Order: sequence, then structure tokens, then C-alpha cells
Amino acid sequence: MGAINVIAIDGPAASGKSTVSQQVARELGFLFLDTGCMYRAVTLAAWQRGVDVMNETAVTHLAERLVIEIQPATNEEDGRHYTVLLDGQDVTWEIRTPTVDAHVSQVSSYLGVRQEMVRRQRAFGKRGQVVMVGRDIGTVVMPDAPLKLYITATAAERAHRRWQDRQNQGHTADYEAILADVERRDEIDSNREHSPLRPAADAIIIDTTGRPVEEVVAEIVGMVRPLAVNGKP
Ligand code: C5P
Repeated sequence: MGAINVIAIDGPAASGKSTVSQQVARELGFLFLDTGCMYRAVTLAAWQRGVDVMNETAVTHLAERLVIEIQPATNEEDGRHYTVLLDGQDVTWEIRTPTVDAHVSQVSSYLGVRQEMVRRQRAFGKRGQVVMVGRDIGTVVMPDAPLKLYITATAAERAHRRWQDRQNQGHTADYEAILADVERRDEIDSNREHSPLRPAADAIIIDTTGRPVEEVVAEIVGMVRPLAVNGKP
């Protein structure tokens, strides 16, 4: 294995993969791309513009036209780690609402939407020194990535973390409803026809149940650092 240029990280909803990956990217000085934001932005755009999310052709046309930009946060006072712009409009928080949660797996099941997003993600990956996170990064987007990780946790723990996030953001949150949403999205993401959620054959599986974020971050940085510096295992 040579020096690591791309780290591909996949895993189910609310597995903590974004939080962990962001910190890994920061420690290594790598760029970070959370690809879930892109599918969320398409879903929000459909919702805002009255496009029926069940209409595959209309949603695909919309996805092809949208300008989605993900930028490092310049002001983290509201808790954001990066800013998502949809046709120039800041939608960082709007893409995290339960309405988007409820429809994003439908939107991301469309082949045309996926092809458009994957094309953009690969272009980003070409910049090098990138941590990319999603559901199909190791299997489809960056199958040649030298390090592939699959970050998971039990559904109960994932739902609890999502519930805690919402509480921290000052929203009232219903644990049972969040658990049901997490399980429903896992079901759709794992069983869809195109690019279903699953670990790449050569992915390292990391179960974060009961483990603090810092410990998982240190484990991953520990895997990468010797390779990034020496270019050999
Ligand atoms: O990671 P996050 O929960 O923000 O992703 C939202 C949804 O976007 C997922 O439930 C999945 O349906 C879709 N997604 C995907 N492929 C990716 C990233 C996200 O299908 N690479």
C-alpha cells in the first residue's frame, strides 16, 4: 500500500461516520466531503420547488441542474462544521430536517441522480488528500481508494446519537420516531437496486458502539499516519 491519497468511509445512517471522518480529515490536513449532503440538497430542492419526489425523471433533471457547493465553515458559532450552498443559498441546516430525512433515501435510489452525484464526487476526489464519506464510496465512487473503512454501530445507539444531536440543537426530538427513521433508511439504502449500502470487500469494519469519538479518530489516524508519511505499511 502506498501513501494514502483518498480515504473512503461508508456506513449506515447516524453511525457517527461524518463526525469521525471530519476529525480525521482535520488531523491529517485532508479535504473532507460528506456526500450525504449532496443527496440531501437534491431532496430539499425537490421539496422547495414542488417537484414530486416519486417522479424519477423530474428529480433527475433537477439534480443535473443544481449547483451544490460544500465549503469549510467560516463561522462555527451555530455548530456547523461546513456550509452547504444550494444554487448559492445557505441550506446547511435545512438539509437536516425530518422532512429531508423522510425523503432522501427515495431520491438517492434513482440511478440518474446517483450518476450525476458520483460524477461530481469523483471530480472532487481527484484533488487528492481527501476523506470522502457516504454509502458507496468504497464500492462505487472510489473503488481504488487505498484505505476503505466501514463505520457502524447498533441501530439503538445510532438513534440515540441522532436524538442527542437534535436536543443539542434545541429541537424537541422523539427517540422512537428517530429509531424508526434510522431503521427505515437502512432498509431502503441496503436493499436498493443501484449502489446498495454495503462494505467493500476490502473495507475495515469499525463498530463504534459504546466507543468515544476521540478513540475511533485516534484508531483511524493511527492507521493512516505511518502510510501517509512513509508511503509504506
Ligand atoms: O449520510 P446521510 O445520512 O446524510 O445520508 C443521507 C442519505 O443519502 C442516506 O440515507 C442515503 O439514502 C443517501 N446517500 C447515498 N449515498 C451516499 C451518501 C448518502 O445514497 N454516498
